[in-house]
Amino acid sequence: MPELPEVETVRKTLKNQILNEVIKEVFVYYPNIIVEPSVDEFKRKLRKEKIIDIQRRGKWLIFVLNNYYLLSHLRMEGKFHLRRHDDELKRHEHVAFLFESGLELRYNDTRKFGRMYLLDKDKAFSQKPLNELGYEPWDELLTSEYLKEKYSKKKLPIKTVILDQGIITGIGNIYADEILFLSKINPLKSATDITDEDCHNIILNTREVLNKAIELGGTTIRSYESSEGVHGRFQNNLLVHNHEGDNCPKCGTKIAKIRVGGRGTYYCPNCQKN
Ligand SMILES: [Zn+2]
Repeated sequence: MPELPEVETVRKTLKNQILNEVIKEVFVYYPNIIVEPSVDEFKRKLRKEKIIDIQRRGKWLIFVLNNYYLLSHLRMEGKFHLRRHDDELKRHEHVAFLFESGLELRYNDTRKFGRMYLLDKDKAFSQKPLNELGYEPWDELLTSEYLKEKYSKKKLPIKTVILDQGIITGIGNIYADEILFLSKINPLKSATDITDEDCHNIILNTREVLNKAIELGGTTIRSYESSEGVHGRFQNNLLVHNHEGDNCPKCGTKIAKIRVGGRGTYYCPNCQKN
């Protein structure tokens, strides 16, 4: 699944490719990708809209248009490819945005889990899905006090709670393991037992891990690629995730794999005792 750094790489790549393009026509081949509004309205409203900017909130891409925000979540396997209008339609291309220039942005999704919303600009941040998101990792309002308060209400393993997009948005399974390893926190520790120091370390390491991953273009675990020709190099820098049986880079103990809340979880039983 693309995580925040991968989505950030997609955002930058797309911004380089399609900024200032004007939409001529939209083709929807698999209607379930469009959550809101109706497919007909989606196509009608997008006509003549210009790509003014591409932003990101959590794992949502936000295409800033003249009158709307087009939100896109890639979920498991979503990808964007830039083609010409007369290029043959490939099997998993479900939505196509034809620009006046003749270029066509195609949304490809083998699993069909990706979702798009077209929302009025003035309402977009006060309604689903954006109003359900917690702070961005770099938001100055993300403090130890905030985390402690949120965690104190969650009687669940910290590994599960750190993935809660309503608290901090943008931490996915791969980076959660790395953040907990660097913070020396056992993934099974109850969120209610997380200390002030743990909170401080989680914030610090979240920023560090995600900054590094963005710098390197994310990971390419599974079939993910950020956009054509862009492959993440961060997977070579993972310390514990996908390293079951390897020696811990800090103490040499063998990295263990367990399941926490249904998610494969890697940790060092020695460095992450508590
Ligand atoms: Zn260790």
